[in-house]
Amino acid sequence: MIHTQSEALFRRAVQNIPGGVNSPVRAFRSVGGQPVFMARGEGSHLFDVDGNEYIDYVGSWGPLLLGHRRAEILEAIAGALEIGTSFGAPTAGELDLADAICDAVPSIEMVRLVNSGTEATMSAIRVARGFTGRDLIVKFEGCYHGHVDSLLVKAGSGLATLGIADTQGVPKAFADTTIALPYNSLPALEEAFAVHGARIAAVIVEPVVGNMGCVPPLPGYLEGMREITVRYGALLIFDEVMTGFRVAFGGAQQRYGIRPDLTTLGKVIGGGLPVGAYGGRKDIMSMVAPAGPIYQAGTLSGNPLAVAAGLAMLRYLKQHPEVYTRLEEVGARLEAGAPEGVTVNRVGSMFTYFFTPGPVTDWESAKQCDTARFGRFFRGMLERGVYLAPSQFEAAFVGAAHSDEDIEKTLAAGRECGGL
Ligand SMILES: *Cc1c(COP(=O)(O)O)cnc(C)c1O
Repeated sequence: MIHTQSEALFRRAVQNIPGGVNSPVRAFRSVGGQPVFMARGEGSHLFDVDGNEYIDYVGSWGPLLLGHRRAEILEAIAGALEIGTSFGAPTAGELDLADAICDAVPSIEMVRLVNSGTEATMSAIRVARGFTGRDLIVKFEGCYHGHVDSLLVKAGSGLATLGIADTQGVPKAFADTTIALPYNSLPALEEAFAVHGARIAAVIVEPVVGNMGCVPPLPGYLEGMREITVRYGALLIFDEVMTGFRVAFGGAQQRYGIRPDLTTLGKVIGGGLPVGAYGGRKDIMSMVAPAGPIYQAGTLSGNPLAVAAGLAMLRYLKQHPEVYTRLEEVGARLEAGAPEGVTVNRVGSMFTYFFTPGPVTDWESAKQCDTARFGRFFRGMLERGVYLAPSQFEAAFVGAAHSDEDIEKTLAAGRECGGL
């Protein structure tokens, strides 16, 4: 494969963009290479600026559940263009998207739209603190909740891939409001609450972790977390920015039957445009300004283009529940075809090939992976036209656009690269 155009663009990019990318995970640093610049996407396929074609398992890092340039979504965006790109005033489309979200996720009784997953989690923890009058937040090692100051403690993939333990630039006082615990350990959670319970505003968790690679909750873990938070009067925030509308129409909370107090969404709900949302119990969300005293705002929040794309996505998914059956099937085939000596974790259309004998249940076990071997596997797959996330600590995403032929080709490439 030739990458001369990508290389030229990257030389230009590093001149005035830090690291040449607008989000660190896009750089290929940990896998030994340079990012491929994309020219266009179609269905399950990506085409780079040198004309190479790839089967895409990144899906823009989660949003593209229906693949690139899905007709229904393009039509909705084109329709929105007819009315204008932004008003800074309410529009009917926002109500339709709010209805669609509340309808799909019953624990969300009220919802506020924002522009990214980071904004959603940042706002949700502010609301949790305002509502409870407490300051501490519990999070889990390896979970990523966006680049929010107090949530960037032990924050999984993006930092881990670069070998950054914790970012600089977060005041110690902010980091001190965060308690980071091992994922999947109820004893650790019990102990933290026994010591700090009266000061903990909320527990925030990726109910299925995607950001240290895919790590599902052990049986009883989320149930235990729900019980402990109720017992101590702390809120439970499910960060479903990745899992929402992906692991089930109603997200991980539907799949596992848990009702959190607050939920954050992003990625899929924007249909490929920038949207985030946070919502939950009415008594809590009624505290958000201007209904209540907890301030949160956004110039482009509820943007008509983004709302139209998101609404088209959610409507399609509601009308086509068979999408989830298909995702499950395709995911299972990729799981079964994993190379020798690899641990596969999968929940629906999210999966990771961990290059370790496993099992992988938390950050300690995830980081045992042979990342050099992952790098060889990644480069081999890329060379064979399979575009995976350039990090061992990310989930791969299957979408509704992946064909049987895509899967055959991916499995064949995997057989060739598995021993690298
Ligand atoms: C991607 C992600 C975020 C951050 O969303 P952005 O839109 O990138 O700000 C937050 N939480 C989880 C679980 C995510 O996967």
